[in-house]
Amino acid sequence: MNPFEYKRAEQEQAAIDAIVGGKYAKFLAGGTNLIDLMKSGVQTPSRLVDINRVPLTNIEHTPDGGLRLGALARNSDTANHPLVRKNYPLLSQAILSGASPQLRNLATNGGNLLQRTRCAYFMDPAFAKCNKRSPGSGCGAREGIHRRHAIFGASEQCIAVHPSDMAVALIALGASVRVRGQKGERMIPIADFHRLPGNTPQLDTNLQADELILSIDLPPSPYAAHYHYLKIRDRASYDFALVSVAAALEMPSGMIHSARLALGGVAHKPWRAEKAEALLAGKQPNTAAFEAAAKEALSGAQPLPQNAYKVELARRAIVRAFTLTGGVA
Ligand code: SF4
Repeated sequence: MNPFEYKRAEQEQAAIDAIVGGKYAKFLAGGTNLIDLMKSGVQTPSRLVDINRVPLTNIEHTPDGGLRLGALARNSDTANHPLVRKNYPLLSQAILSGASPQLRNLATNGGNLLQRTRCAYFMDPAFAKCNKRSPGSGCGAREGIHRRHAIFGASEQCIAVHPSDMAVALIALGASVRVRGQKGERMIPIADFHRLPGNTPQLDTNLQADELILSIDLPPSPYAAHYHYLKIRDRASYDFALVSVAAALEMPSGMIHSARLALGGVAHKPWRAEKAEALLAGKQPNTAAFEAAAKEALSGAQPLPQNAYKVELARRAIVRAFTLTGGVA
């Protein structure tokens, strides 16, 4: 591991000030991903700013009736919080499908959004080619093994997928990320928080280097009664998604009033399928309607030779997830 400077901040502004002064400084929260990447030499920050004592752990109502999840609340505490379980059970289910209990006890909400891809070529510096780790070096996965990689939104430079389950539920629920940097505070819709790889795959998000995530804000949700997070993975006990589906229906009177659909494991960012959602509005909740939505959701897929199976897997997973939302005809 490379030598690095360690600083501890106890307040938001002190943390931001400390990060600004470092040449390649990183915030340290749960460290469940960052420390691994430092040990393997994938990331080599010159300074770590420990923010674990910054008071950002609250989970509380917002004035509009939504919910604010503190950036430093642990994933376990968030998933098991009574207000999350009651009003956003899709989010609770998604978080609990990720990682292991021990990791969820340590991992934070902000860190969950910032975790890096688990592309094997990125994770191991022994592979010379990885544009995300070493811009301009090539993409080992595109030329090599890519059965776990993206079927949407990839570029010639990178075909990696985002590993978070939590982020898939958050985009389905229309969350926003509240951040603060030297220029002040701003809200970033979760749909704009993560980036597609394009020509700059080294950038995962639109967060500026000096910006600290303060909270994840959820609007009031009508999707607490009919929801399901379905995660398909090679190993049921503990693994990242090959494909995951966050499905939710608003059905005040037996018909679908509105729907939410997002996919994980298919793109460089959580992938919301808004056209498919629109197809479901006004329909009876039945297999025909779900199959039509799934077909629409997969219509733009651009698989590679080894991951074409994901198109059919995702299609079936969408139908299955909506079927498991309950109240289906
Ligand atoms: Fe690197 Fe992205 Fe290619 Fe993986 S897919 S090797 S992360 S450039």
